[in-house]
Amino acid sequence: MSQATDVISKAVEDKADSLQELSGKIWSHPELFFEEKFAHDTLTEFLEKNGFEVERKYKVDTAFKAVFRQGSGGANIGLICEYDALPDIGHACGHNLIAESGAAAAIGLKAALEASPATSGTVTLLGTPAEEGGGGKILLINAGAFADIDVCLMVHPAAMNMMATGCLSYMAGNVVFTGKAAHASAAPWDGINALDAVVNAYTALSTLRQQIHTNWRINVIITEGGVKPNIIPEKAALAFSLRAPTDKELAVLKGKLADIVKAAALATGCEVDLQFAVDDRIAYYSNMIPNKQLVERYRQHWLSFGPADSTITPDHFWASTDMGNVSLEVPSIQPTFNIGTAADVHTRDFTETTNQPKAHAATRCVSKAMAAVGWDVLTDSALLKEIRESFQQQLASLNE
Ligand SMILES: [Zn+2]
Ligand SMILES: [Zn+2]
Repeated sequence: MSQATDVISKAVEDKADSLQELSGKIWSHPELFFEEKFAHDTLTEFLEKNGFEVERKYKVDTAFKAVFRQGSGGANIGLICEYDALPDIGHACGHNLIAESGAAAAIGLKAALEASPATSGTVTLLGTPAEEGGGGKILLINAGAFADIDVCLMVHPAAMNMMATGCLSYMAGNVVFTGKAAHASAAPWDGINALDAVVNAYTALSTLRQQIHTNWRINVIITEGGVKPNIIPEKAALAFSLRAPTDKELAVLKGKLADIVKAAALATGCEVDLQFAVDDRIAYYSNMIPNKQLVERYRQHWLSFGPADSTITPDHFWASTDMGNVSLEVPSIQPTFNIGTAADVHTRDFTETTNQPKAHAATRCVSKAMAAVGWDVLTDSALLKEIRESFQQQLASLNE
């Protein structure tokens, strides 16, 4: 066991410079969701050079699959590269480091397998585009990309180390109210004010927050509110996102929002078009269920590899991700790790940190931990059985 972790550590450290270079290239060339052509090409070339069998444009244009297989049978360990960036602020979510961590963990686990020729197993590294909107992993799930994977491991850079990161179910959508334009002074009684409908809906959604559960979230912005004050607004719109700890709770919140926008339309005499963004191109993310056994193994290995900051933040709900959808298909984890900043994700300060040497060092540490967890699963069939049992229990508890 300790021998395998030594092999993993050495394999990752030997590649430290090229991993940092790989990540830096992606950082310097930020691409938005579904446009990650440069990252796709850079990563696939790197992985091919490192001995993986690579399938480019795997089921989605900017997705890929890189596989290393030894022997016949054995478990299939799934690892994840994300690599999309944000508008204006670049790699403020640090997905360049997620790309680096997936590649590093795959290299570490491959080395451990090669050092133990009698062990059979598969390492499957999936390049999953479009996490920041688009739901690339959902497209890949629907296309069967996770069907033969036994466990799936990924990490996310952050300002803290959280082991069983909770991610909320998430959906977004738009509401458009249509009224009737009229001169605001000469004949306001002839108008139907769509802005009033938006304001009513916004206010009702705001007051609803008093009576919802602590971990439910309602966020609304007004995207259209009329064109000139002397015209009664005939069209007004809002955009919303809703979050809750489970898909089931999110469905309740969705129903409340639908009632509110209908009431706002009725109160003002407007027509309403409510668009729930549930198609595959738009985010509809499930909650994350971190697998208990995988989290515990990860924690132990991560600490043993000596992270620069080993403070563990208590588990709590963080953001939302399409990794949540993966966690409902396959036993999964997505711990966060501190890259040496107090800044939160999606800030310019975070972008700066995601290409600093300390961030790459922290990434190598978590990558080794993922590879070591993968090794445990490959070599301990009792562990895999326990992981599957607790996965089934966690799924069942969602429907209670
Ligand atoms: Zn993000
Ligand atoms: Zn992210």
